[in-house]
Amino acid sequence: MRNLTGVEHPATMAVWAGEERYLVEGATQVPIVQSIPFGYDDLDEWMGVALGQREGHIYSRNSNPTTRAFEEKVGALEGAEDSTSFATGMAAISNTLYAFLRPGDRVVSVKDTYGGTNKIFLEFLPRAGVEVTLLDTTDHDAVEEELAKGCDLLYLETPTNPTLKLVDIARLSAAGREVGAVVVVDGTFATPINQSALALGADLVLHSASKYLGGHADALGGVLCGPRELVRRVYHYREINGAALDPFAAYLLLRGLKTLELRIARHNENALKVARFLEGHLAVERVFYPGLESHLQHELAKKQMRGFGGMLSFSLVGGYEAVKGFLPRLRLAHRAANLGAVETTVGPPATTSHVESSANEREAMGIPEALVRYSTGIEHADDLISDLDNALTVR
Ligand code: PLP
Repeated sequence: MRNLTGVEHPATMAVWAGEERYLVEGATQVPIVQSIPFGYDDLDEWMGVALGQREGHIYSRNSNPTTRAFEEKVGALEGAEDSTSFATGMAAISNTLYAFLRPGDRVVSVKDTYGGTNKIFLEFLPRAGVEVTLLDTTDHDAVEEELAKGCDLLYLETPTNPTLKLVDIARLSAAGREVGAVVVVDGTFATPINQSALALGADLVLHSASKYLGGHADALGGVLCGPRELVRRVYHYREINGAALDPFAAYLLLRGLKTLELRIARHNENALKVARFLEGHLAVERVFYPGLESHLQHELAKKQMRGFGGMLSFSLVGGYEAVKGFLPRLRLAHRAANLGAVETTVGPPATTSHVESSANEREAMGIPEALVRYSTGIEHADDLISDLDNALTVR
């Protein structure tokens, strides 16, 4: 194994971590091990691997060398003891929730989670006999009060999708732990480059790898990182439940991860420039971006994030009709339900992050119908700004 002791910079980790063990025949890249089973002539060896007493793989629904390399690389970036992967980000979220929760348990979370997560809270967990309490995302006193009444799992997402609200990870993790809750953070928007949820006190951090980690909008995946004992519990649920990451997707995600730090640096830079431009534009009503001084939680953002990310949202003067006119005029953006890719991607929450939610549910979550979610790509900021300027100007 390559010794990475003393390597502290994420840019270096993103390139080297987690790969060495899986290289074969002098190859410098991790191969796609497209095999379901792994064979053993020696029954003792087979039994040792099956019982988890020896390193190795049995069946790719459980583990696979390519997916393991992906898990180890993200784990190293999060500074985690262990990590496990999933077919999608939603599989990471649902498997984590179902691995820990039993009928009669109680989850405390916030209103602004990703639409799919919100559906699990509102539709599926109550059906499984789990009580869910969703609170105002920025009202940390209210979250602490609810935690004090008893909680088995505290689920946080920061920054949130699509209104870019923040949750104070250190403060709420401490409050959650005090009552014995497992504290889970969805860090998809921040990535391990901009935020270290585990170092801030969370028990577990998860990501939709389909977004920034892969970065090229061509591979679905999810990942969970944290202490071995907790990660293994979720792994066990996932291996039986069957939500395994495919080795080919793992290969694409691994390849994307190598440039994660470079890409995020550009996303951070571009989004801040775009947000500042939009804030000064007469056709724009309001801009949501944690890097702006006008963001209500800008101080918290500076405290817990190393960069403010590539995601921003804004509302237009003229409401939904203005959004309908504006979107087709953009040349440098895919109008699509995705984020975190090298290309700029844009859309309203009703067809992107919260497509699963009804108009009433979106209203209850405080998501304006005239909102535009803008995932800033890695293009040159000047080109993006002139594209936006052009699209905002009705001739
Ligand atoms: N978490 C967040 C914050 C997301 O934005 C998304 C998807 O947009 C997910 C989780 C779900 O990820 P996936 O689409 O990989 O299932």
